[in-house]
Amino acid sequence: MRRMKRSAVRRALGFAYAKASGGSMPVSITFITTDRCNFDCSYCQIPHAPTPEMSTDDFKRAIYEFCRHGLTRASFSGGEVMLRRDTVELVTYSKSLGLFTSLNSNGWSTGRHLDELAGVLDMLVVSLDGDREAHDAVCRRPGSYDRVLDLLSDARDHGISTATISVIGPWNLHLLDDLMATASRLGAWAYFQPAQADCYDQSAGLTGGLGASEIHALANALERGLARNEPIAASTGYLARLKQAPKFTSCAKCAAGRFFASVLPDGRVVPCHLTSERHHYPSGLDVGFVKAFNALPRPSGDGCAISPYQESDLIFSLDRNAIQAALRRSIPSSASAYRVMKSAILR
Ligand code: SF4
Ligand code: SF4
Repeated sequence: MRRMKRSAVRRALGFAYAKASGGSMPVSITFITTDRCNFDCSYCQIPHAPTPEMSTDDFKRAIYEFCRHGLTRASFSGGEVMLRRDTVELVTYSKSLGLFTSLNSNGWSTGRHLDELAGVLDMLVVSLDGDREAHDAVCRRPGSYDRVLDLLSDARDHGISTATISVIGPWNLHLLDDLMATASRLGAWAYFQPAQADCYDQSAGLTGGLGASEIHALANALERGLARNEPIAASTGYLARLKQAPKFTSCAKCAAGRFFASVLPDGRVVPCHLTSERHHYPSGLDVGFVKAFNALPRPSGDGCAISPYQESDLIFSLDRNAIQAALRRSIPSSASAYRVMKSAILR
């Protein structure tokens, strides 16, 4: 325990120094372990051009290297991350190093692994893109909505905190209240973000049919949800950024590449997966993962509205409300847990 405390203090001091000196520190890394996916969501291009994948040992090496240089949070994402057989092993390894662990999944097969993930996975984030009809249509996978709901409920029973992430486009803008109510009922935090036209390039902007007025409608609906005490994961800072649509913020000022970053399946280290220059970044396999991170140039562009990235940027900018929202999310959705208990009692 004393060792963990010492390590937390060392990390906090390291972050304070990096922040004050204009330096960088890999506090939070998303390991995109695969581009492969068993879904074909209408707004997503990721599975269409899969990149080669590093081995389990390579990913462990990356995690270990980052951990020695300040890593606090390891997130695992895809594609569909559960298509890799080593996902539970990588999460377990990260937890053994004392990291906060999170996993993004489409929820199709994750339910089979909950026994193994319980105790090592801190946060499970599952895609939820509408009611049954809309979700299954967007994912082009009948039955996926029911699997997501079952998974959220089972994960909660296994003591794993959960969140939904809803990619919003013209196809589900009218379902925001439904999405909030579903997350609330299942004791999950709810992230929302507008759909990008190109998952690999922030400069392509938002998907067709999403203009400033639609994004304002999204921000206003989330604001109303927060006022109703719905378990909205967003901070007010994120909502303020949404209201700047159609441009959001500046990539050059973003903490991506300074305090958080992504490792692509083939080992390249990038500020975020939307960086259009990603082909030019070196692989951690060639130069070392921390070295690749430390050499990241400032990305360029007009920013994005990717909710977890923007929340991270706000946290690393020391935005008080974003830090409060993050602390709120780290307590297993207390408001919604209360609601779940209440509805169970009243049933
Ligand atoms: S959004 Fe996620 S689940 Fe859907 S196709 Fe893309 S990677 Fe797969
Ligand atoms: S704002 Fe940050 S996370 Fe978003 S595209 Fe730019 S660098 Fe990436």
